[in-house]
Amino acid sequence: DIRIAGLRKDFGATSVLKGIDLDVRQGEFLTLLGPSGCGKSTLLRLIAGFDIPTSGTLEIGGRDVTYLVPKQRQIAMVFQSYALYPHMSAGRNISIPLEMQRLSFSQRLPGAGFLSSKVRRIREDIAADVARVADQLGLESLLDRKPAQLSGGQRQRVAIGRALVRNPSVFLMDEPLSNLDAKLRNQLREEIADLHRRTGITFVFVTHDQKEAMALSDRIALMQGGQIVQCGTPGELYGAPALLSVARFVGSAP
Ligand code: ATP
Ligand code: MG
Repeated sequence: DIRIAGLRKDFGATSVLKGIDLDVRQGEFLTLLGPSGCGKSTLLRLIAGFDIPTSGTLEIGGRDVTYLVPKQRQIAMVFQSYALYPHMSAGRNISIPLEMQRLSFSQRLPGAGFLSSKVRRIREDIAADVARVADQLGLESLLDRKPAQLSGGQRQRVAIGRALVRNPSVFLMDEPLSNLDAKLRNQLREEIADLHRRTGITFVFVTHDQKEAMALSDRIALMQGGQIVQCGTPGELYGAPALLSVARFVGSAP
């Protein structure tokens, strides 16, 4: 589903990605695991289209997307911090990407006066999509709250909902759990696994937490110094030399 070939990224004289080759299969849960600074977020941003590579190619669903803008890639990304609009309700935070896609500015105004039946129908469709996502993520009773009235885990669920509502074919997550306490992290990890099972969406998940990677992934790509040093199933990587060397580096080896 995603084919990455010879991907390099330089910032000035610094080479941050040094030739990444990676295929992510349709429906797979693939985790990029590696220490801080190894290039995980940079790689994810290139896949999302927030930045373009210095060289190399990127295909999604058989299409060369190397130079396409994010909107043209059918991907959704969730970040480490929630990046929700603080003045909007949770429901509106989820619906806003759809509103931007389907409605003009004046049609989006909550108090808009006269609405044609066509606009009303679009708004009803959007409301139905938000309700479906809220149901999937257990957010039904929280849609009217502002982000400040939500817990960290609930906020991150809203952020996931906002990404999910656009029906992406690929879901990119950059350490979405790292700001949460241990209990919430476990709970949300389960929910993400469940979301993957139910939707069959391709996931590329970033973490530097080895246990998290082991628990969630079909395959793990181990990164170090801008390269993928090993890629395989958790079983294949368990106790493998490269994993141990990276784990020692992160300080989480037994
Ligand atoms: P972390 O686990 O801490 O989030 P990471 O693996 O996501 O780390 P990246 O954010 O991809 O790491 O950064 C990789 C390297 O590239 C770092 O050394 C970083 O300083 C550098 N870097 C990232 N973005 C830029 C930029 N815009 N300009 C210059 N250097 C950058
Ligand atoms: Mg990062």
